[in-house]
Amino acid sequence: MSEQLLTFLDDQRDLVIELQKEMTARPALCPTSGGQGEKDKADYLLSWLKENNITDVEEMRAPDSRVNCGYRPTIIARIPGKSEKTLWIIGHTDVVPTGDHDLWESDPWTLRVDGDFMYGRGVEDNQQAIVSGLLVAKGLVDNNITPEYTLGLILTADEETGSKYGLEYVAKERPELFKKDDLILVPDIGDADGTMIEVAEKSILWQKISVVGKQCHGSTPNEGINSLEAAAAFILKIKKLHGIFDRTDDLFDPPISTFTPTKKEANVPNINTVPGLDVFYVDCRILPGYDLEDIRKEIKKLGDEVIQEYGVTITYEDDQANQSTSQTPADCEVVTKLDRAIKKVYNVTPQPKGVGGGTVAAHLRDEGLNVACWSKLIPNAHVPNEKSRISCNIGDAKVIATMLFDTTN
Ligand SMILES: [Zn+2]
Repeated sequence: MSEQLLTFLDDQRDLVIELQKEMTARPALCPTSGGQGEKDKADYLLSWLKENNITDVEEMRAPDSRVNCGYRPTIIARIPGKSEKTLWIIGHTDVVPTGDHDLWESDPWTLRVDGDFMYGRGVEDNQQAIVSGLLVAKGLVDNNITPEYTLGLILTADEETGSKYGLEYVAKERPELFKKDDLILVPDIGDADGTMIEVAEKSILWQKISVVGKQCHGSTPNEGINSLEAAAAFILKIKKLHGIFDRTDDLFDPPISTFTPTKKEANVPNINTVPGLDVFYVDCRILPGYDLEDIRKEIKKLGDEVIQEYGVTITYEDDQANQSTSQTPADCEVVTKLDRAIKKVYNVTPQPKGVGGGTVAAHLRDEGLNVACWSKLIPNAHVPNEKSRISCNIGDAKVIATMLFDTTN
């Protein structure tokens, strides 16, 4: 039975191109990126599902007054299996802005096809996941196939700007949606050979640090307190954190927690003024098991040394803080089934891995659910000339299809 489905999927090149073309033509930009959200794209997908006789469909609307329609849509579609146990495929409809148009070789909102490659904003992140899910759904319905497990597709809004109007809203409104023994796959991260299964994430802490001194004329530096010197001293101390939080975990690459000074705001516009305010940022990616509060404390201790040495005052602000508490066991059911399906379809040996953080899986893992993130893709999300391989859209669909029939424990 599943062989018939796999053969069907192999023939779907035209459908992949059609779906990608239609979705790419509907820029689903979040309001913080100056867009009107996902409504146009979601409406297209809703009508596609209807035309293709996929009838168990609901749309959830997260209220958002910043967009004209007043809501952010998430689509939940199900194809019933023999069991109610559900394999969920979670994809997101929103995309990031194109950036500088001149860097694109063709219009980012018009799909360009060249052999196995499709180009356009969103084709990989995350339309590939949506296409793979829709292909399997159509394959089941057109061929009258009932899989072992129910197929659940969640096409969610607002992944790129925090998921508040997307998966977080869905999980809050519908806590019963995901059952403990459901299988959850998020095809939103991956590598070119399809071997990376993401099962864990580092915690993220982005801190904004403001160093306040006293501004004065450059010719009389002793009359002021130079915030740049103090900030520079602080920035150089940050690497000491590597020695304090020094645990390693080979699941991750790099296998350590990282503490990296990144952004520095401009201070004075002219050379002959001693600055009185310098603001810089630290990007911390911390292995699970460390408490973010301990990181904050140690950063503050380093700051206290700077206060002692330079006589400045310092304030701290979290720009982003995501404590990653749970990881998905590498031997749990969804990872095991996914591992077998990848081997069968792509003939490679997958490897469970941890990443630097930032997928929707973290929210669900914190609810106690096991979530595997995986896709075979050229990692090029958010860049100009974003591309996706037709063969991967189809291959990933075959992996999903294979999992739907895998009853081995
Ligand atoms: Zn994404």
